[in-house]
Amino acid sequence: MNDEYMTFTIKKKKNIALIAHDNEKAKIIQWCMDHSEVLKNHNLYGTGTTARMIADRTGLRVKGYNSGPLGGDQQIGAKIVEGVIDFVVFFSDPLTAQPHDPDVKALMRIAQVYDIPMAVNRATADFMITSLYMDKEYDHEVINFKKNIKERAESM
Ligand code: PGA
Repeated sequence: MNDEYMTFTIKKKKNIALIAHDNEKAKIIQWCMDHSEVLKNHNLYGTGTTARMIADRTGLRVKGYNSGPLGGDQQIGAKIVEGVIDFVVFFSDPLTAQPHDPDVKALMRIAQVYDIPMAVNRATADFMITSLYMDKEYDHEVINFKKNIKERAESM
């Protein structure tokens, strides 16, 4: 691998963001109940309402950010950039227009840039949470942003 990329490690204990649009909240709560034995071994975060509902109804500890439409998706995106969040389960609503659609797209894009595992439906989330990688470290290659900045600054 050349210096265009840097190796990042998703640790054994994952930092998982949980987000669901309103029509999908019941589904993510059920998913959290079904997988609570695994989820309780990781650090959980979420957008405001989703985090509160999961914590209240499952007993899992979930750190809440702002509500999604008020910037919560952007906060989670920023945490991906900072290396704090490294795993996302986002049950987005495919049938309802969202006022914060640009934020949703931005979060999905930044998860791609940082090669973060991200499920946007239950089946993918089931496959991810039962992956062998849930129980060990995972090395992956992320764009070398330091080199990127240096080259950009020197080229202009
Ligand atoms: P919420 O936000 O958890 O505060 O409802 C989720 C979202 O709409 O992105």
